[in-house]
This record gives sequence, structure tokens and C-alpha cells, in this order.
Amino acid sequence: MAQIGTEQNPVRVAIVGAGPSGFYAAEHILKDGDVHAQVDLFDRLPTPFGLVRGGVAPDHPKIKSVIRVYEKTAARDGFRFFGNVKVGHDVEVEDLERLYHAIVFTVGCETDRRLGIPGEELPGSHAATAFVGWYNAHPDYAGEEFDLSCERAVVIGNGNVATDVARMLALTDHELRQTDTADHAIEMLDRSRVREVVVLGRRGPAQAAFTNPEVKELGEMEDADVVVDPADVELDPASREFIESDEADKTSRVNVEILREFAQRQPSGKRKRIVLRFLASPVEIQGDGKVEKIVIGRNELVDEGGTLRARDSGEREELECGLVLRSVGYTGIPIEGVPFDEGRGLILNEGGRVLDSHDAGHKVGHYAAGWIKRGPSGVIGTNKKDALETVRHLFSDIADGKLLAPESPDPAAVESLLAERGVRFVSFEDWEAIDQAEVGRGEPHGRPRVKFVRVEEMLETLGEKVSG
Ligand code: NAP
Repeated sequence: MAQIGTEQNPVRVAIVGAGPSGFYAAEHILKDGDVHAQVDLFDRLPTPFGLVRGGVAPDHPKIKSVIRVYEKTAARDGFRFFGNVKVGHDVEVEDLERLYHAIVFTVGCETDRRLGIPGEELPGSHAATAFVGWYNAHPDYAGEEFDLSCERAVVIGNGNVATDVARMLALTDHELRQTDTADHAIEMLDRSRVREVVVLGRRGPAQAAFTNPEVKELGEMEDADVVVDPADVELDPASREFIESDEADKTSRVNVEILREFAQRQPSGKRKRIVLRFLASPVEIQGDGKVEKIVIGRNELVDEGGTLRARDSGEREELECGLVLRSVGYTGIPIEGVPFDEGRGLILNEGGRVLDSHDAGHKVGHYAAGWIKRGPSGVIGTNKKDALETVRHLFSDIADGKLLAPESPDPAAVESLLAERGVRFVSFEDWEAIDQAEVGRGEPHGRPRVKFVRVEEMLETLGEKVSG
């Protein structure tokens, strides 16, 4: 094979998934001066940016400003966006293998982890991921319905997604109307009768998964008091020893300080309450045809190989509620033709090189980056370093000639294939038109944008450009 990665023979890379890791992978590939590359970034949605658009809470607009960085990548020579193209449906992995030297999967972890308790499927019990998608106008969740006519909602898990959904349930109409929250969600949240949001952490305050600014923010809500029972912030001896030791990370130590300060507060009479509970696990969700109460088991912490884990003490408590949001983490969805580690819910890989099976070597030309490579952890920026590791492996494989040998490395071949299959792909220019239309819809209302919810609406905005 002629040397790939030269000006005459650029390496052609398909990246699947246009979230942060997809853009960071594209950036690392395209900014390298030595390797000549062309990157086609695919996404099943017409809109790029993954969880920055569909996950980050609407009242956190600063976090979304990272989009400017991705726009710079999109402006680089050799970059193309193919939105509205679902790999595994519109095109198969095998098709990509015929068209590219390498494929990088950056599809994230698209579904929720299950609790495995009775009543989890009752109407009124939802994955937090669905609630997040719904308020963020993600097309997949446009049809979801959340009954907000109850007084108490329970959020299970105490990571940053749990703080996001708790906050969204407690924001005032005034606060919501300044954001890009989906219109259907603003309307429902405005009429919500939820007055108390209880967040259940299965371990103690020293093991909470949320980070400092996110938990602190719960104490600064315009119309919601934060409530922590002083008994709940009394640390058990092992946690106290950990928090006072040099081993304790700053996040855990500061979390405990913030929670202790919350525990000293008196409710100030705000309309809503966010109650943070600890050592509390859901045991069963009960109700006659819909969620009516949750049975909570009291936990104690036990040391398992140096990690403090929750163990059921047998003590039970019942809490009436009409809505349960299960926020216990995300997991990946397998892609046909890509080896998957069922146990971890990730693409089987080593440092971003996809493996053929647990004890076999690299599936040549296949790579992964981001959550689908390492699991649903870290902040947006964590994916930059993660993608760099993968791209370094890709570059070293290019140097060693370990790539796919595409039949049609011509950049036009993919467009012909999509045209043949009648797929209306959305280019980055098309996306910019959708983006401008959304921003324009928001302007008269002083909102950053009013998002389109349905894919058809987005395509209609493009008129003949994609339909013709
Ligand atoms: P997460 O941080 O992993 O939190 C998951 C939570 O679920 C933990 O509290 C975990 O408790 C709990 N949990 C797991 N299984 C459980 C069970 N069977 N019963 C009860 N509780 C259970 O996940 P996440 O909140 O989905 O967030 C995903 C990632 O996105 C994180 O890295 C997060 O920081 C990031 N994120 C960041 C922001 C932000 O920066 N503002 C916003 C949203 C998300 P244990 O700790 O005991 O396992």
C-alpha cells in the first residue's frame, strides 16, 4: 500500500458521533501538520455537539460556549459533517470500512443504567436521561410525558445529572424562560405542582458523586430552599478518617463542608425544597398503576477492598411521591459489527484501539474515544485528553501501515452512497442555517434560541437545500 497520510494520499477517517469526543478526535487528527487527513463526522441527528446540546442543563449556558471550539474544528480544511445519517441504519459499519482507512466511534453512552428493583417500570418512574432529553428538545424524547401534578418527586443517585434534574424541577418560570429549554417543557414545568424534590444518595456525604459548584448551586436557588438533615452529615468513623486524611480528594472534602453548611440552614420560606438525603437506597417503587410511593432502605457503609460501599441495614421507610427520576448513570448501546464489552457497557477497546475480543488483538482500523471508550465519567474537557490518546494510537498505526484498505477512498463516494440510499444528510453549512433559524426564533423573547424539536422541522428549515 502506498504511504497513507501524505498530501497525495490523505488518510480518510470516519468519526461516528458528533459530540465533544467526536469533535476533539477530529481536531487532534486535522491539526497535525505531518499527517494529511480528511475527516467525515457522522451523527444520527441533524444537529451536532451531542450532550452539549442535548445534555447540558439549559440554565448552564456558559458550559455550552465550548461549541465555539468545535466550530473552529468544523472550519478546518478536510472536515465534513454528515448529520442525519445513522450508522447501523442508513449506512453500515461495513460500508464505512469500504470508504475509509479508519473509523473512530465516539457515540457516547446513550441509554440509562437500570436499578433492577420492583416497580421500576411503573408509569411515573423515568430514567433521568429521558427527562434531560425532554427538557433539552432532543427529538428522541419529544413525545415523553412527565406527570408533574404530584407534590413530591424523588431523584435516585447523587451525581451531577441528579443535581441538574433536581434544579430543573425547582427553577422558577422566570428563570426557565431565559433559557433554551424546550417550549413543551417550559409549559409543563410552569404548571408543575412539585414542591419537594428528594435526592437519594446511596452512600454518605463524603462519597457523593456530584462536584462542588453543582451542589453549591442547589443552595442558591431563587425559589427553593435546600434541606439537609444534620444527622445525615454526621460522618461514620471510616468516612471521617478518610476526609481528614491526605488521601481525601478536594472535591469530597469541600462537598462535605458545603453539606454541613446546608445542614445548619433554616428553611427561608421559599416555595420549593430540595432535600438531599444520604445512606438511602430505593428498594421498591409502589403504586396502583402509577408511582405512589417509594420504599427506601437505610444503608450502612462497609469497607470492601479499600472502597466504602453501601450495605442494606434492613431498616425501611416509605415516602409518598408521584414522580421518580432514576439518575444512576448512563451506559452504551452496542453497534452492529463492533465488539462490545457487555459487562462494562462499552466498546471493547484498549486505549482506544477496538479489540476483536477479550483476548484477541486490535480490530485494525477501528477506534473508540470518549464515554463509549472509558465509561460515562468526567467533564466535557476530559474527552479532549481521552481523544488524544486514541488519535496517537491511530497515528502510530498509520506510520506502521496498519489501516483498513478502502475500495473507494474518494471523498465523493460517501455522498454518492447516501444519495443512492435516499438519505438527506445535513452538512455543517446546513446545520449553521438551522442554528441561525433557532437563534432567530429566540431573539424576540430574549432567549439564546428556541430549539426545533422534530427532525422534520429542522429539515423543513433547510427547504430545497436538502429535500431537492
Ligand atoms: P455519576 O456521576 O456516575 O453518578 C451516578 C450516581 O448514581 C452516583 O451517586 C451513584 O452512587 C448512583 N448509583 C449508581 N447505581 C445506583 C444504585 N443501584 N442505587 C442507587 N444509586 C446508584 O453519573 P451522572 O450523574 O449520570 O453523570 C455522568 C457524568 O457526567 C459524570 O462524570 C458527571 O460529573 C458528568 N456531568 C457533569 C455535569 C457538570 O459538570 N455540570 C453535569 C451533568 C453530568 P455511587 O457513587 O454509590 O455509585
